[in-house]
Amino acid sequence: MQKNLFLLFLISSFCFSQNPYPQDYFRAPLDITLIPSGTFGELRSNHFHSGLDIKTQQREGLNVYAVADGYVSRIKVSHYGYGKALYITHPNGYVSVYGHLQKFSPTIEAYIKKLQYEQETFEIEVFPTAAELPLSKNDIVAFSGNTGGSGGPHLHFEIRDNEERPINPLLFGLDIQDGVNPTIKNVYAYPISKDAHVNKSREKQKLRLVALQNGDYTVENIEAYGKIGFGIEAIDRQDLATNQNGVSNIQGIYNGNLKFEMDFKRFSFDETRHLNRFIDYEHYKNKKERIQKLFVEPENPLSMYTNLDNNGFINVEDSTSSVYKIKVGDFHNNNSWLTINIEGKQASEMKAKPDSVTPYFIYAKKNNELINKHISVNIPENTFYDDFFIDFKVSNDTLSLHDDIIPVRDNFSISYDITGYKNPEAEKLYIARLVGYRNQYALYSQTYKKENVLTTYTKTLGTYALVMDTVSPKIKPLNFSKGKWLSKYRFLKVKIEDDESGISNYRATINGKWILMEYDYKKNELTYDFNDAISQETENNLKIIVTDNVGNSSTFETLFYRK
Ligand SMILES: [Zn+2]
Repeated sequence: MQKNLFLLFLISSFCFSQNPYPQDYFRAPLDITLIPSGTFGELRSNHFHSGLDIKTQQREGLNVYAVADGYVSRIKVSHYGYGKALYITHPNGYVSVYGHLQKFSPTIEAYIKKLQYEQETFEIEVFPTAAELPLSKNDIVAFSGNTGGSGGPHLHFEIRDNEERPINPLLFGLDIQDGVNPTIKNVYAYPISKDAHVNKSREKQKLRLVALQNGDYTVENIEAYGKIGFGIEAIDRQDLATNQNGVSNIQGIYNGNLKFEMDFKRFSFDETRHLNRFIDYEHYKNKKERIQKLFVEPENPLSMYTNLDNNGFINVEDSTSSVYKIKVGDFHNNNSWLTINIEGKQASEMKAKPDSVTPYFIYAKKNNELINKHISVNIPENTFYDDFFIDFKVSNDTLSLHDDIIPVRDNFSISYDITGYKNPEAEKLYIARLVGYRNQYALYSQTYKKENVLTTYTKTLGTYALVMDTVSPKIKPLNFSKGKWLSKYRFLKVKIEDDESGISNYRATINGKWILMEYDYKKNELTYDFNDAISQETENNLKIIVTDNVGNSSTFETLFYRK
């Protein structure tokens, strides 16, 4: 026991000596036991998670505290993303971020509501000065919620440095209980060079994982030759919850030499999309498993690679025995090891998978233009990481532009010349991406119109089509009916829906005066709070106009009475 304690002391002092971040400066943002439903750096759709998701006991409305002295430097309210979010700048230069909030503290709520009414908008972003909303550590700044793109009540919490780079909040000493080793779910070997093979195949090989008694892993011995890389699918759990979260550190060690290390301590938002270069994107799209590659291909600027030798690739020689070990660790230094024994053996004949050739070749470093009849695709240089044969087909108004199995770095554009359409049809057209097994769902893709050309900008390959939306949005009162007395009501709730292109904007007034209606896209609800006290009248005219993305609009109007 003594020895273990000493070891623990050694390990923790080692960690702290490497940790440049202030300890005990920030308190926890909640006053409950911190249990994460998402960890820093974990793999999400097109990005690395930039904070810690803290479980809030399946509830909303928990007190959210200022983690240190400072001032509110930014308030952002959006339908999607972080929903209602608060940013606090601290005297030491760090910024703490609180997302998916239900509401702000009364002072901050009054501050932002005044601006929402002045600008007549629910979605808003403001940057108060240091003098406007100063705060002390422990002040209640907000209440936890589920707003924006949140799939259940939780607090999204971040700490950023003075260059807006998110840092793992746990590096500041927040207390999370974690004695659970990461789980390795799958391991793959990738033959890279032309002469390389794994188990006599030129294709990526799934290796059969064997879990050992002590929690570590091995695989059946493999036979290989040439330039090889490895990839794993791994997750981590913390104590007190079964959530599958991200790991914090991954290493690849070949014959005792560190070839690869990735460490998720800090990154910048400019690089977060390169997650798609880090994972096996095609595998993810086909199998929904995120394989993290323990090798680095060209055009991968991620800053989280802390050690690389030969970009993580190994060269297996003929008639050799070698060992590749993978170490996966969480933030609390719980580690899982995987051992791969490799027999080096040059293979005589191997069939390489032929490239699927199409008439259209994309040079990643060049501007590429694809045109067929009335549809054109403009792909600027560096839209893709690699050169490849792209699948490009046009049939009437349907554009097949490859499958979504190749990562895209930045926007490319798709344009339709709609001269063939006449008004009123032409006015109701938009560009949609078709999804689903039979392409049965049309997702609106933000469409811009200039004379007879519709253009959309996208980062997703796949099938696109011109779709017509002639149906206006639906507006339906939820907790009241037309012409009634609503004296005891605190809220007015209305359901708004649009079938095709989706809701673009809405505007609500009482007796001609704009009222703030908060939009919850997950519930398709608009909510007005009578405490905003916009009308003191007994007879009130409520009017709501909802417009969809091609400009169809609907108006709901009623009288109600209040005293
Ligand atoms: Zn989050």
